[in-house]
Amino acid sequence: MKKIALLGATGSIGTSTVDVVTAYPDLFQIVSLTFHSNSEKGAALIELLKPSYVGVGSEKIKTELHNRFPEIEFGVGEEGMVRAATLEEVDVVLTAVSGSVGLKPTMAAIEVRKDIALANKETLVMAGYWVMEAARKNNVSILPVDSEHSAIFQCLEGQQKGNLKELVITASGGSFRDLTREELKSVTLEQALNHPNWSMGKKITIDSATMMNKGLEVIEAHWLFGTDYDKIKVVLHKESIVHSMIVLKDGAYLAQLGPSDMREPIQYALTYPTRLPIQNEKPFDLSQIGQLNFEPMDFDRFPMLALAFLVGKKGGAYPTVYNAANEIAANAFIDGKISYLQIEEFVKKAVWNYTETNDVTLEEVIAIDKQTRTIVERWIKEEGLL
Ligand code: NDP
Ligand code: MG
Repeated sequence: MKKIALLGATGSIGTSTVDVVTAYPDLFQIVSLTFHSNSEKGAALIELLKPSYVGVGSEKIKTELHNRFPEIEFGVGEEGMVRAATLEEVDVVLTAVSGSVGLKPTMAAIEVRKDIALANKETLVMAGYWVMEAARKNNVSILPVDSEHSAIFQCLEGQQKGNLKELVITASGGSFRDLTREELKSVTLEQALNHPNWSMGKKITIDSATMMNKGLEVIEAHWLFGTDYDKIKVVLHKESIVHSMIVLKDGAYLAQLGPSDMREPIQYALTYPTRLPIQNEKPFDLSQIGQLNFEPMDFDRFPMLALAFLVGKKGGAYPTVYNAANEIAANAFIDGKISYLQIEEFVKKAVWNYTETNDVTLEEVIAIDKQTRTIVERWIKEEGLL
């Protein structure tokens, strides 16, 4: 029986994880979970899963739910997430919160030797060096949940490190892949949230449209697989069938294919190296799909992807700034405070505004993340929707 802490249980990945776990009640048990504000869904999950510990976003929700479930221990905010992730009985922490709030609980879990099934890519972008270093020191596995990274992880299995030539990450292109930059000026939130292939949380759906998501994934791949940025390629692949590929020294391509169903990478992160059937599997027949298309990425059309390689190569806290500025800007667009193209403007401005080049400590990275958020929030107040 694998005992799981599920951070971000009410979200899109959280929901798919609950599907995987409840399909195999003899194999998995969710012993702790967290959510932020969706107490209705949170309460339903508590009834279904009967965890021993629950982390919530506010004292108000804690009091409300504690009255309803007196036998369960509750915690609030970051402290609640840390406690959920570090409970003695937990074997693996599935981090499915949105944004870099995942950093503290992930680090705390690694320090007490819990394996990590990582969906929360922002954590790795913000502080990849320190997360991977802590995992190495504590002999902890970081198993990818992001579909592209799960695909690469699967392709790399059994390969000698020296065999690898490059990683090829596929990108669906998001909601606006067929629009010109001119047409992007007037797009709405509703249009942006309409992703062609995947149903996901709001922030990552916006990130997919701006191609920020692919940028975050490039940096995520750099840290997860220890691959140099010039060996990471991105191709446009509209069907989202090939989840990603690797190229070996002799020119052989290995790819992982499957339906757009996050239960697959989630389950593999939890059962690795064993494979199990997926319940009510989506129909998948390549002869029905007929053709798969691949196109080069247009870095002028998607400047956030070009910027990811730049901040990644600069290193230090540059990726931290890139991620923090985007978290604020993407959420400001969701809240109607800025226009779609202003997301890119604020991310670029934050990166150009940052000049530190020396090595930074984890404490400094956390401070730079906070500082970037404050600056971008101020810019949004001053310049939003101008
Ligand atoms: P959702 O927005 O659907 O869910 C986010 C979860 O985090 C919810 O449980 C939410 O609680 C909780 N949460 C939100 N804000 C906070 C906060 N400030 N403190 C603590 N918890 C918080 O996101 P997704 O499931 O789509 O994505 C989760 C992560 O997985 C992201 O990092 C994303 O990039 C990554 N990912 C997602 C994929 C997908 O298919 N969705 C694919 C690959 C990666 P509440 O509901 O109560 O607000
Ligand atoms: Mg992905």
